[in-house]
Amino acid sequence: MKTSTFRIVPLPTDIAEKARRTAQSDADDHAVITVDSPFGYPCRHCLRWAQPGERVILFPYASIPAGHPYSETGPIFVHAEQCERYSATREYPADFRNGRAFRAYDANYNMIDAEVANGNDPESIIEKLLQNPKTEFVDARSVTRGCFTFRVLRA
Ligand SMILES: [Zn+2]
Repeated sequence: MKTSTFRIVPLPTDIAEKARRTAQSDADDHAVITVDSPFGYPCRHCLRWAQPGERVILFPYASIPAGHPYSETGPIFVHAEQCERYSATREYPADFRNGRAFRAYDANYNMIDAEVANGNDPESIIEKLLQNPKTEFVDARSVTRGCFTFRVLRA
C-alpha cells in the first residue's frame, strides 16, 4: 500500500466525553437523538455512520476557534455511548468517501482553497491541497449541510 502523505485527525476523545457528560445534564445546546437513517448521522469520534436505533448527541463545535475572520462553530454528532476513536489515521475513512467537501486553511485559520470530492478519489484532493506549502490543515465537511466531519494534517 502507498504510504499516505496525510494524517486523519478525528474529534479528540475528551471532547466526545465532555459532550456525553453535558448531554446528561440536559443542556439546551446538547440534544440526544435516536438515529433513524443509515447515512444521516456521522460520528466525528469513530468516523462511522451511526446506525438506526443508535443514539447520538448533537452539539455545537468550534472547528475554527474564535478570534479569526473564518471562526466557525457548527453542529456535529458523536455517539451517545462510548465508541472507539478512529485509529487508522493514515487511511481515509471508508464511510466518508462520498459527499465531502475539503477546505484548506493556512496557519492563521484563513481558508485558502476548497474542493468537492464529487466522486473523485478524496485522497488525491487532500494530497493536492497539502502540496500548497501555505496549507496548514484540511477540513472535511458535509457537502450538503456543511458540517465539520474531520481534520487532515500532513503525515
Ligand atoms: Zn462513534
